[in-house]
Amino acid sequence: MTQAAIIDGKAFAARLRQTIAAEVAALKAEHGLTPGLAVVLVGEDPASQVYVRSKGEQTLEAGMHSETHRLPAETSQAELLALVERLNSDPAVHGVLVQFPVPDHISQAAVVAAISPDKDVDGLTVANAGRLASGLPALTPCTPTGCMMLLRDQLGELSGKRAVVIGRSNLMGKPMAQLLLAADCTVTIAHSRTKDLPAVVREADIVVAAVGRPQMVKADWVKPGAVVIDVGINRIPKDDGQENGGKTRLVGDVAFDEVKAVASAITPVPGGVGPMTIACLLANTVLAAKRLNGIGE
Ligand code: NAP
Repeated sequence: MTQAAIIDGKAFAARLRQTIAAEVAALKAEHGLTPGLAVVLVGEDPASQVYVRSKGEQTLEAGMHSETHRLPAETSQAELLALVERLNSDPAVHGVLVQFPVPDHISQAAVVAAISPDKDVDGLTVANAGRLASGLPALTPCTPTGCMMLLRDQLGELSGKRAVVIGRSNLMGKPMAQLLLAADCTVTIAHSRTKDLPAVVREADIVVAAVGRPQMVKADWVKPGAVVIDVGINRIPKDDGQENGGKTRLVGDVAFDEVKAVASAITPVPGGVGPMTIACLLANTVLAAKRLNGIGE
């Protein structure tokens, strides 16, 4: 039985970070411009702390300016919005990212709305979502942007492909579908109310699973030869069903072991889509810095 090519997102992201570092060096040398990313963390969520630390480290490794603002969990919404406002007008900062989730007393929507669309390197503002949907230059959400890079690398031309995106979140499913549409794919967005999801997925040349349900997409859902991009990050017990001292492992939304016997290419979890997210955050920050300084793309 033929096996799918395993798409190495970790290696791809490492190459992308090298390209970004070279571009940052050129921007410094030719324009005296150092792209800068400000990350704001409210509270002490352990997973968020790990993400924020990685973002800071990788920003510095690329030769960029990095600042991390750690605020206590009891910070008021007004205080957080005032910091965002200050970062919006700081010329050393070209990207502003507030790590989600924020504590319950703060409105995530209000935080997103406060970020200047020109510095919205997470691509979450209504302005950037609208620009993407309208075919205008936008800052696009990092994970879907990374998925597109992997797909282009794997398939080359995407025009005319049938794509099914499972999931319709503002962060992932919707922008993914818009990016595929902009690349001239024929796109279906599936969600929890979709009828006969396996039949819908079986039509796809490209499957993007962004659901948050461990190993949901099975081999008999996938058209032979399809390319499968697994965005899901799910933690399950290490030895399913057995006593294991609470040990867990990461799996995606796709039943990897069986689907890799049907697909032509597939991203693993971990090591597929995940590493692309921060690399695309750096790329968005460089793009924002260039646009804010009138430097051509
Ligand atoms: P989300 O906001 O919870 O959205 C999940 C989507 O899946 C919803 O649109 C939901 O449909 C749909 N869904 C739920 N159950 C379904 C089912 N049984 N059949 C079909 N669709 C179903 O999650 P998200 O933020 O988009 O993230 C999705 C996954 O990607 C998560 O595992 C997350 O951890 C991961 N993720 C990874 C990265 C990364 O690699 N860096 C980044 C972002 C997200 P309804 O809208 O109908 O409820």
